[in-house]
This record gives sequence, C-alpha cells and structure tokens, in this order.
Amino acid sequence: MNAPPRLPTFAFDNSYARDLSGFYVAWKPAAVPAPRLLHLDRTLAAELGLDAEALGSELGAAIFAGNLVPDGAEPIAQAYAGHQFGHYSPQLGDGRALLLGEVVDRQGRRRDIAWKGSGRTPFSRGGDGKAAVGPMLREVLISEGMHALGIPTTRALAVAATGEAVYREVELPGAVLTRVAASHLRVGTFQYFAGRGEVGRLKQLLDYTIARHDPQLAGAPDAPFALLRAVAERQAALVAQWMNVGFIHGVMNTDNMAISGETIDYGPCAFLEAYDPKAVFSSIDHGGRYAYANQPPIARWNLARLAEALLPLVAKPDDEAALQRAIEQAMAVIDAYPGLYDTAWRSGQRAKLGLRTAEAGDAALADDWLALLQAQQVDHTLAWRRLADAAAGSAEGLRALVAEPAALDGWLARWRSRCAAEDGDAAGTDAAARDRAEHLRRTNPLVIPRNHRVEEALAAASEHDDLGPFEQLLAALRRPYDDDPALARYAEPAPAAVTACYRTFCGT
Ligand code: AMP
Ligand code: MG
Repeated sequence: MNAPPRLPTFAFDNSYARDLSGFYVAWKPAAVPAPRLLHLDRTLAAELGLDAEALGSELGAAIFAGNLVPDGAEPIAQAYAGHQFGHYSPQLGDGRALLLGEVVDRQGRRRDIAWKGSGRTPFSRGGDGKAAVGPMLREVLISEGMHALGIPTTRALAVAATGEAVYREVELPGAVLTRVAASHLRVGTFQYFAGRGEVGRLKQLLDYTIARHDPQLAGAPDAPFALLRAVAERQAALVAQWMNVGFIHGVMNTDNMAISGETIDYGPCAFLEAYDPKAVFSSIDHGGRYAYANQPPIARWNLARLAEALLPLVAKPDDEAALQRAIEQAMAVIDAYPGLYDTAWRSGQRAKLGLRTAEAGDAALADDWLALLQAQQVDHTLAWRRLADAAAGSAEGLRALVAEPAALDGWLARWRSRCAAEDGDAAGTDAAARDRAEHLRRTNPLVIPRNHRVEEALAAASEHDDLGPFEQLLAALRRPYDDDPALARYAEPAPAAVTACYRTFCGT
C-alpha cells in the first residue's frame, strides 16, 4: 500500500512581507488546469531545508504550478521601477512573478522563493502574467550553468507545466518557474520609492537592505554611500566574471540588476561563440546597448541611477550645498567603479592565463590574446580551454582553432616565457607543466550553455514533450570543467551560420 502523500512544508520566515508593508501587494497565484512537474532540483531543495521527496509528489507539482499555496507562504507582488533601455518607467513591479516567502537555508543564508509565470498581478499592465515551458527551462539551464561556473546567480528550484496554453506569436505550453534568490531587491526597487518622493520608505528600504545584505554597514555614518560602494564592488566582481566566461545578459535594465550581486532575470541572454566584443543576440537590442563589451559601462550607468535614488536620503532637494556635497560623494563611488571592475576583470584574466602572480605586462598579454581571437574569429570558450593543453606541451588543439597560426605562435612564445619566469627554478619541468595545465582546466570551462544546445533541448521539451535532451544538457552543465569525452557534443561550437542568425527574445 502506498503511503499517503506528505504535504511539503517550508519553514517560511517572511521578512519582506513583515517589515516592508506598503512595498508590495499581497496576491494569489492564478489557478491552472493540470500541474505537472518538469524539473525539481533535489539538491537545492535539501540545501533549503525542504523535503525533496514530498516536493516530488503531486502536491509538489501543485505548489510549483501555483495551485497550492504552502503553509506559511505570504505571496506578494513586489513594487519596483526601472530604466529600460535607458528610458525610465516609474512603475514596473512583479507583473508575472510572486514572492512566496523566505527561508533560512542550512548554511544560515536567507533565500527568497518566488514563482515566475504565476499569473496577472496589479503590476501586469498589458501582460498575461504567464510564462512558457521553453523560456522557463531556459532559465534553469543558464542559471544552473552559471552556478556551476561559480558565478553568483539566482537558482532554479523547479519548473511545473501548467497544462494551459500561453499565447506569444504562437501558442506555447505554459509553465511556472520557482526561483531562489538571495533577495529580489533591485536598483529599480530604490528608484520606485525615490521617484515617488517617499523618503521615509526609502530609508526603510535602505535599512532593510543593509540588514539583509551588508549588516556590517548598519549605523554607518554615510550608510547610503557605503551601500552604494558595496553594490559597486559586487557588480564589478559579477560583470568581470560574465566577461571572462563570455556571458551576455542581454537586458541589463536597472530593474534587472540585483543589489545582492547575483545574476538575475534570464531573458534574452546568450553566450559568446567566436570572440566578438560587439556581439548582441537580443532581438530587441537594436542599438547594441547591452552588447557584450558594453556590459561594464552599463553596470556603471546603472550604479549612477542607484546613486541618484539614494540622494534624497542624504540631502533635501532645496539644500543646494548639501546636495552638491552628496553628489560629489556619490560620484566618488561611481568613479571608483571602473577601477574596481578592471581589477576584478584583470585578476580573472590572469587566472585564465594560468598565472599565479601579477606582472606589469599581463594586461598587454591578455589584450593581445583577445585581439587575436577577435581577428581570427576564434571560439572564446575553446580557445581559453585549450591553453591547458598548450601548457601541458601540446598546442595543436589550439592551433587548429585559428586560420593563421603564425600570430598565435608568436603570442604563445610570449605566454610561455611569462609562465617560465613565474615557475623560476621549476620552469620546464613536467611538474610545473602539469600544475599549470590542471589549474587551467579548473579555471577555463569546457562546457558552457551553448546557444544551439540550449535551443535543441528546449525544442525537444516544448514541441515533443521530451525532457531527455534538457536533462542530459543540464547534467553536462553541472560539470563544466570535466574532461569527459562523453561531454564532447556539448563543447562543440555552433556552426557559424547558426550563430550569425541566433536571436533571443524578451518576455520569454
Ligand atoms: P523583464 O523583461 O522580464 O525584466 O520584465 C520587465 C517588466 O515587465 C516587469 O515588470 C515584468 O513583471 C513585466 N512582464 C514581463 N513579462 C510579463 C508578462 N507576460 N505579463 C505581465 N508582466 C510581464
Ligand atoms: Mg525583470
């Protein structure tokens, strides 16, 4: 006899709902006809202190589709504003998402649990509040791929099919994603209250944010600037990681920049194939505002918008002198950002070059390498990865990636002599070569979420209800550094013709 299904329980402790009334609308998810679990990350569930077994049941599917609100959840749609492609929208908010609540995980970290695609809310404007299977599984693949690459990101706990159709340009199967995040506080959350002139609420938000993400700053004399600085540091580190792995977020609007420093909102994102600083895949990014190489300056632009939103906390608008001083203090942080970014990016590059030490010529060595990849349209991921083989003594795999190996050979000679200088007495020994090759294999991934493999997996799931390719790809993405011949198909670049036509979509 089967045991009766256990009701999955969550130890919710909902600080946002409790401490920030007026910052959200309490709301319920839409009922859907036929919940069915497509994906559940049992490891993540366990990390959150949840009962993975119970969540794998029909009751779990009902929860993850939004049909069953678990005990202790207080679903809310959060208010936020944002600059979208440079234009300010005073009211965006959760138009197709709801925060169920927060749990404190096994390591003591407070984590948000939220639905995406759970129906209309007071913030939906013209939207249907829904999401489709393909884009929700896409968020799973890319966010979990990012996590395996060691890049701060929101996580994907589960995806449930709803059994109802959603209408985009065509009819698609509907789904709800359950996302886990350090918080859903965004630059746009601050903009919302600053824009409405609600300074009291802005102060409440500042205090809440500091308590949640930067408790060491509580009571600091210049708390708003201290928070701005902390956010700048996290964004510098984050965007440097994106750049070094070839990730293009695609829609770095201020409502999609998390205060926590996690990558958030996987819409039209994509990975570089051949190295190209101008790469843009988003169908709506006509001006290339969010192109690969624009990401660091766009993060700075977004930080300046956060700084503006914080100003009312420091100076009254009619106090000209105080305002001027506040602007100067904010500008000092904003102007420090490029340096913070550069340090993080260069240090990541040195690691990717297999270097343990820092020397004056390293930046030029890295720049010349990237220039070479760009000139010869070399696959970004494979080129870095094959440096490991070159370190171990075989540059043939790397040479096979370039059309004209002479330039590469010249660069390799410089790189080898830089490595030899670092190795000192050990230079040229097998042990030194092995150490460097190993370090490079742990730093430069072999498997990333390649656009064509992602699309292939989503098409199988969405069009044929076949989750096999999705599961296999996800398993490969969880082992990005392993040299396993079984993973070879996930490491192959897409045909150039596929990448040339590749377009990703918003509202996905
Ligand atoms: P995003 O592009 O996902 O960052 O969303 C920008 C804004 O549009 C947010 O306020 C979303 O809640 C809202 N939004 C996106 N898609 C939908 C939808 N299908 N229905 C309602 N609101 C949506
Ligand atoms: Mg968003």
